Amino acid sequence: MAQQSETITDRRRKTRNRIYQYLYLAEGLCTKQSVAAGLQLSLPTVHQNLAELLDEGLIRYAGELQSTGGRRARGLAVVEDARFAVGISIMEDRLRFVAADLRLQELAFKKVLCPSAMIKEDFGSVLAKELECFLDENNLNREKLLGVGIAVPAVIDPAHSRICLAPRLHLRNNRLEALTGEIPYPCFVENDATSGGYAEWFASTDLGMNVAYVSLEYGVGGAVFVNGEPYAGDNRRSGEFGHMCVEPGGLLCKCGHRGCLEAYCTAWRISDGLGLTLEQFFDGVAAHDPELEQLWEDVLCHLAIGVNNVRMALDCDVVLGGLLSQYLEPYLPRLREYVAAQNPFEDSGNYLRLC
Ligand SMILES: [Zn+2]
Repeated sequence: MAQQSETITDRRRKTRNRIYQYLYLAEGLCTKQSVAAGLQLSLPTVHQNLAELLDEGLIRYAGELQSTGGRRARGLAVVEDARFAVGISIMEDRLRFVAADLRLQELAFKKVLCPSAMIKEDFGSVLAKELECFLDENNLNREKLLGVGIAVPAVIDPAHSRICLAPRLHLRNNRLEALTGEIPYPCFVENDATSGGYAEWFASTDLGMNVAYVSLEYGVGGAVFVNGEPYAGDNRRSGEFGHMCVEPGGLLCKCGHRGCLEAYCTAWRISDGLGLTLEQFFDGVAAHDPELEQLWEDVLCHLAIGVNNVRMALDCDVVLGGLLSQYLEPYLPRLREYVAAQNPFEDSGNYLRLC
């Protein structure tokens, strides 16, 4: 009996979700009739579900639609700010908080500097406290908070709730609980580059089904999507492009090895590492400062080796994302030339794109 009623509840929830998603994805306003027709549901079923969604403030009436006769139909739309989510990016020396509504519009943003934060024993409580401050400072209503997504530059094992390895945060085999234990909202922890790749995937309408995403931040990571699904690999380490060797015996990497892509192509190398901001660095390159130009050339050459290796292994579009990608547009033609020059199969580097 219990099982049967569960099934009915499940079915009802699915129908309600379908109706909400239909309204969410619709271009322009919907009506009760258009929802019923679009989902092939009966009008009373649609009416009942819409009443519940309206009652909970998840959808609203939004204007009237033109009618050829009789009463004009009232339009329906989702309420963008009915709920929101918070994203936290944990980096080696800073935390970044962002709140976004259901349409992914930014509601608030904050950067908190905290050097070597993760090494501290009480990092979990520091994180929880900073989150509460962020919510307070921006008058965000906790009752509407769906949950908190936490992006970490780490290999994560969700089955065992552990951080397996995070070279940049000096962590190995730590419990996720230490990170999220004091946060009183639903939490989801994911590798930072996988999160970035997934966001790119979610927001893009013109990406193919197979994509490699290379994230250029203070570290270098990545994610692989095959047939539109993230490909994690046997050990959840797929897309760790940052630790591909691009220069045997080269610069020392945070992981302890030499010549990794991450040792050459991070935002850190050309900003904090030089005592400059990224803006200052790229202004210097644009003004033909010889030292900065030479360093930038070195970054581009090693990036091209990395990108070409990804293309060789996966034969799909390669998308560059992360902090550094915002500055790459003027250098994309050159980078495409470099990758094409290394590729024995194709003359063009047009498979390489920016976020
Ligand atoms: Zn490395």
